[in-house]
Amino acid sequence: MKVTLTFDNGPTAAVTHQVLDTLAAHGVQSTFFLVGENLRDPANRAAAGRAAGDGHWIGNHTLTHSVQLGDSPDAGTARREIGEAQRLIGELATPGRLFRPYGRGGIQDRLLLSRAGLARLRRDKHTCVLWNSVPHDWDDPDGWVDTCLADVATRDWSLVVLHDLATGAMDHLPRFLEGLAGAGADVVQDFPPDCVPIRDGRVLRSLEHLVAD
Ligand SMILES: [Zn+2]
Repeated sequence: MKVTLTFDNGPTAAVTHQVLDTLAAHGVQSTFFLVGENLRDPANRAAAGRAAGDGHWIGNHTLTHSVQLGDSPDAGTARREIGEAQRLIGELATPGRLFRPYGRGGIQDRLLLSRAGLARLRRDKHTCVLWNSVPHDWDDPDGWVDTCLADVATRDWSLVVLHDLATGAMDHLPRFLEGLAGAGADVVQDFPPDCVPIRDGRVLRSLEHLVAD
């Protein structure tokens, strides 16, 4: 089985560095989906720069992480939440322009995207990266490891959403990575194709169930 790791909602300087130390110790490459406005803090920006320098991929996880595109479907919201975040990420973005919408706890429904957001993702040649494993590390900071190890065993290729936030959950990241190794998982940086509905602006699979009318 394959497992891809992603870390959302950061950077949170101290925790992001802690995660980077753990990933380096285990030789694991991942992707960090950043909340754009967090980058206004120089310490956070430096942590994101280190992540990129360590070979991790850097994606856009909206400007404010406070409003869903489908809940505020005007073009201005799409411009701010996607475009302004991308401007702040700037040269850290790699590979290409990865974007992950705000899913208010990992929910994939019609609030995830808007027509204006979809148009912007196509126009600016974004790659939209969704997920298929959400172990709720943010509200189960001690239990998420066992939840996630059981979940990833149920599918061939899991794309796991974790968070480099100060919840204490990342204290258990070493145990999680040891568990994956013990289970014989192949931890890869690339994304499972069924979690990537848009690649470089090209729509590859139907998004109608994720776009507000
Ligand atoms: Zn998020």
